[in-house]
Amino acid sequence: MKALEEKILKEGKVLPGNVLKVGSFLNQQIDTAFSMEMGREICRLFGDCGVTKILTVEASGIAFAFAAGAQLGVPVVFAKKHASANISGETYSACVYSYTHQRNYEIVVSKEYIRTDDRLLILDDFLANGNAINGMLEIAAQAGATVVGCGAAIEKGYQGGGDALRRRGYRVESLAIIESMNEGEIVFRKQ
Ligand code: 5GP
Repeated sequence: MKALEEKILKEGKVLPGNVLKVGSFLNQQIDTAFSMEMGREICRLFGDCGVTKILTVEASGIAFAFAAGAQLGVPVVFAKKHASANISGETYSACVYSYTHQRNYEIVVSKEYIRTDDRLLILDDFLANGNAINGMLEIAAQAGATVVGCGAAIEKGYQGGGDALRRRGYRVESLAIIESMNEGEIVFRKQ
């Protein structure tokens, strides 16, 4: 998505530790109009797949997933990262290693929100090593739901998580794929 690549080049900052900061439109401040544009692109890509629900993980996946859900006309379920009073009853859960925080955490979804007959689209803001999406795939498997595909706003292609999922047969669509990144230059994969 050309407009996203341009926005990353204009507003993104490469931080030490190989982290791209896009707080101005995706990770802290949300550019609502641009989010809806990204949602429309996800809808164009997955609109004919019979998606019944989007699965994402809190917190930074929610805005992107919401925009996609609004365009596809389906609900968005987000996995919680901390057990809370809001989650009661039986749950699906998976252990995920956080790239940005460098530690393991548990993601949890109440069983009532994913059914065996759901056709899930799994979305996140970033796809790097693939740990977050793999955790959500595990939750989908526990629920016995069908996964129609996975996607991210921004994939850091050189970390390999997206291509590993593609090799396993999943359809993975990322709106911008970064092939290499350093403080002076960001290069995108030709799509
Ligand atoms: P993965 O689990 O695929 O290794 O990493 C994806 C998760 O880590 C996303 O949920 C995202 O929040 C975070 N993440 C990974 N790389 C970056 C990055 O460069 N910038 C930001 N803002 N988040 C990242």
